[in-house]
Amino acid sequence: MAGNTSCATRDRRRIWIADLGLAALLAAACGQTPRAAPVVVAAATAARAEAPLPATVPAPRDDGRLPPGVRPRSYALDLTVDPTLPTFGGRARIAVTLDGPTRAIVMHGRALAVRTALVTSAGVSQPARAWPRLAAHDRGEPDELALTFDQLAGPGPAVIDIEYQAPFSPGLDGVYRVEEGGAPYAFTQFEPTDARRAFPCFDEPGWKTPFSLTLTVPRGLEAFANSKLARRADSADGHTTFTFEPTPPLPTYLVAFAVGTFDVRDGPRAPAPIRLVAARGKGDLGALSIDAAAAHLTLLGQYFDRPYPYSKLDLVAVPNFGAGAMENAGFITFREELLLLDPAHASTASRRAMASVIAHELAHQWFGDLVTMAWWDDVWLNEAFANWMADKIVDQWRPESRARVKAIGDKAQVMAEDALASARRIRNPVRSSGEAEEAFDGITYGKGRAVLNMIEAWLGEDTFRDGLRRYIKAHEWGNASAPDLYKALADASGVREVAAVMDSFTEQTGVPLISASLRCQPARDAAGTTAVIAFTEREYRTLDRAGPSEKTWRIPLCAAFPVAGHLQRRCMLMDGAQAEMALPGAGCPAFFYPNAGETGYYRFQLAPADARRLANGLNQLSEQERFGVVNNSWASVWSGELPAASFLELLRGFRNEDSRLVWGQIAESLAELDRAAITDGARPAFAAYVRDLLGPLGRRLGFTAKAGETDDQKILRDAVMDALGNLGDDGWVLSQARRATDAWLADAASTDADIARLAVPLAARHGDAALYDRLLAVARSPKTPELRVVALRGLAAFEDPAQVARTLELVASGGIKTQDLRYTFVPLATRRSTQNATIAWIEGNYARLAAAVPDPQRARFMGVAGALCDRERVQSVAAFLRPRIEALEGADKSIRQSIEQGLRCAMLREKEAPATTQWLAQHRL
Ligand SMILES: [Zn+2]
Repeated sequence: MAGNTSCATRDRRRIWIADLGLAALLAAACGQTPRAAPVVVAAATAARAEAPLPATVPAPRDDGRLPPGVRPRSYALDLTVDPTLPTFGGRARIAVTLDGPTRAIVMHGRALAVRTALVTSAGVSQPARAWPRLAAHDRGEPDELALTFDQLAGPGPAVIDIEYQAPFSPGLDGVYRVEEGGAPYAFTQFEPTDARRAFPCFDEPGWKTPFSLTLTVPRGLEAFANSKLARRADSADGHTTFTFEPTPPLPTYLVAFAVGTFDVRDGPRAPAPIRLVAARGKGDLGALSIDAAAAHLTLLGQYFDRPYPYSKLDLVAVPNFGAGAMENAGFITFREELLLLDPAHASTASRRAMASVIAHELAHQWFGDLVTMAWWDDVWLNEAFANWMADKIVDQWRPESRARVKAIGDKAQVMAEDALASARRIRNPVRSSGEAEEAFDGITYGKGRAVLNMIEAWLGEDTFRDGLRRYIKAHEWGNASAPDLYKALADASGVREVAAVMDSFTEQTGVPLISASLRCQPARDAAGTTAVIAFTEREYRTLDRAGPSEKTWRIPLCAAFPVAGHLQRRCMLMDGAQAEMALPGAGCPAFFYPNAGETGYYRFQLAPADARRLANGLNQLSEQERFGVVNNSWASVWSGELPAASFLELLRGFRNEDSRLVWGQIAESLAELDRAAITDGARPAFAAYVRDLLGPLGRRLGFTAKAGETDDQKILRDAVMDALGNLGDDGWVLSQARRATDAWLADAASTDADIARLAVPLAARHGDAALYDRLLAVARSPKTPELRVVALRGLAAFEDPAQVARTLELVASGGIKTQDLRYTFVPLATRRSTQNATIAWIEGNYARLAAAVPDPQRARFMGVAGALCDRERVQSVAAFLRPRIEALEGADKSIRQSIEQGLRCAMLREKEAPATTQWLAQHRL
C-alpha cells in the first residue's frame, strides 16, 4: 500500500550512503540485485549514521535556491524501470561548469539511495560522498544532495556521475506506478519539484539543458519520453533498451517518460507529428483529442508567429493522474477523462474541458517550455498565460464555445479568494518546495488570467499580441521574468505605465473597489462636456476584515454609457485614489456601467441614484455587464453593505434573463447564500424561493435534450436544473433526474450524455442502496472515462448516511483511485448535507484514511473547515486536523485560508441568517 518506503532513504538524519555495502543491503531489501558499477570505486565501506557534514559544503540558502558556483550543461540519464518492482534506478551523468575550485557540490535529490558517486574534472576522477540534507525550509524529506570529495575540482568543465536506486513514489508525483487492466505501468510527474525523486539534478527552472535519456525496461513493455526514439535494442537478459534523441534545452520539471503496454494512435504529421498514447485497449477513444490538438497547434503557431518548437507531440492518457494535465515538452500527460472521449457519446462539458485543457497545455509549449520562468515566483507567466491563451484559441477554433465569456465567470471566483487576508500575491516569494507547490492556486491561474484580459483590453488585441511575440522571440530556449514581459509589452505599445499597472496587481493581494457617481451640469463646458463620472478607489473588504487599507492600484478603467441608444465605451488609466472621466458629446447619459465588458479586475459600488438608473438600463447592458451587476451585488452582501434579503429581492428582477453566464452567477450566489445564511428552519422557504425564481425557466428548458441545442443552452440547463434540484428540492426535477438515471443505467448509449451527467448526482441525493450498487458497478468497470466520472459523482451525491459511509469506506480501503478523490471525498466533505457525517467519520477513522491518501492530497484536508460556516465547528475541525497535517509540505496555505474562509462565512451567517429567515417567512410563496 502507499506510504511504505522501506526501500528509500528517508531518514532526516545525515546518513552516509555513498557506500556499496549499504547499497547492496538496500537493494537486497528491495528484492533486487544491484547492477554492476562499471566506472566507480566506492568511497568507503562503513555506514556512518551520524557523521557531520564536512565544513566544505555551503550552508542551505534561505531563499530555497542551490548555492551558486555549479552550472549544469547537459544530462545523460540511463534508467532501468520495471514497474513490477518497488524501486527503479540507474545512472545520471551530468556535465557541469564549476565557477571556481571546490571540494563540494550541492544539488537536489530526494529519497535517492546513492550507490556510487564520481566527480571528474581536468581529466581527474575522484569518488565523492553523498549527503542528503534538509534545505532551509524543508519539512520531512531532505531535498538537497551534497557531494563532497577530497581534492579540489574546477574551475571549468566537470562531470558528475552518480549511480543510485530510488523507490517509486507512493503518490502521483516523481516516478510512480499504476496498475490498469492488470498490467503494470510507470509514469512521471515532476512539476514543481519532484524530478529530484527520479534522478539527482539541479532542480530549478532557471537551469535549462539538453537531456539524453535511455530507458531499460522488461521486454514486452514500451517506453516513451519527451523526444523521438533514436533506437531500441533487446538484450539477452530479457530487457529492451529505448534510447531517445537528445532534447532541446529543458528545465528538469519538464522531463517525462512512461513505461508500459500502450495503444498508440497516429494523428496528422503537420504542423508536428501527433500521437495519442493510452493504456492498452483505450486508444480508440482518442480521435477527438487528436483533432483538437492539431487545430490548436496550427492556431498557436499563427498567434506567436513561431511554429511549435519540438520534434513531435505525444498526448498521453494516464490512468491515475493528480492534476488535470502536464505540459512536459513534446510529451503532454493528461487525466484519461480529459483526453479519451467517446466521439458518439461525449457530453458537451467533457468536450469543452478536453478542448480547453489541450489548448492550455499546448500554449505552455511556448509559455513555459520554450520560454521558462526564471524562478517559481513567476509561475504565473506559465499558468495565467496558458489559461488566457486557451480561451482565445478555443474561441478561434469553435466560436460557439465562448470560452472567454466563461472566463468572466471564473474571475468572480478568484476575487473571493483574493479578498482573503491570507491570499497569495500573483508574484509571491517561493523559498521551498512546499511554497512552490502552493504557488499553483486560483490566484496564479485565475487572477493572472483576469489581469491579462484587462491589460489586453487596455493595450488592444493586436498590440498585446505583438508584445508577446517580441517576448517569446527574445527569450526562446531560455528563461524570463515578469519585467522582461513588461518591457516587451511597453516596447510594442509605447505605453510606459505597463510595468507600474502590472506591478500593482501582481505584487500585492486584494481587489480594488471603485465607487462611482455621475455628475451632469446644465451647461456644456469648453470641451462640450456636460457629464463627468467621478471615481474613488479603495480596497474591497469582506465584513470580517474591518479597518483601513493602505493599498492603491493603477487601474485601466473603462465605463460604458448610452449615447443615442447605443452603448459607448470610454477608458482611462486611474492612477491615484480619485479620478474623473469626462464624457464629451454624451449629453447626460441615462445611466453608466463602471466596468465596461467586465474586463477590469475591480469591483464597483454606485451612488444610490446611479444604481437605480442602472437597474432601469439592464436590458441595454451586455451579458458580461448584467453578470457584473449580480456579482457586484453579491460581493456587497459579503462586505456587509447589502442585506442578503435585498439581494434576493434584486434577483427577482432577472426572471426574464436568458444568459447562461448570468444564471450561472445567480445559481452560484444562491448556493453560497444557502451555506452562509439559510438555517435548517428556513430551508423550506428558501427552497420555495428558488423554485419560484428558477422554476419557470427550468420548465421551459425541459429535462430532455433537444436537437440543435447550442452549448449555451445546455450549460444553462445544467446550472438551472442543478440549482432547482439541490437548492429548490424541486420534485419535478428530482423525478425527471431519476427517470433519466434509470434510462442511463439501462443503456448509457441511448441517453444524452449531458442529461446523464446532470441527472445522476441529482437522482442519487435521495437514492437507496440498490441505486448505489448499480452506480458502483459502472464506476468499477466503466466503458469510458467519462462514465466513470459520472458514476463517481453519483456515489458522492447520496445523502443516506449508510451510503455516505460506504463511499468513505471505499476511500479508506484504497478502493478509490487517488485521482478520483476530487469527485468523491471532496464533495462529501464540503457539501452541506453530508459534511457533518463526513467529519465525524474522518475523526473516527483518521489513521486508515491517512494511510490511504498520499501526502499532497492529505495536505489539503483542511478544506473541510473552509466549507463550514460555524465558528465553533471551524475551530474544532481545525484543532483536530491541524496537528495531523501541518508537517506536510504545502499544507500551510490550506490551513490558513480554510480557517479564514470558515470564519468569514460564520460572521456573515451571524449577521444575515436572522433577517434572511424573517424575509423568507414574510415572502413565503
Ligand atoms: Zn498549466
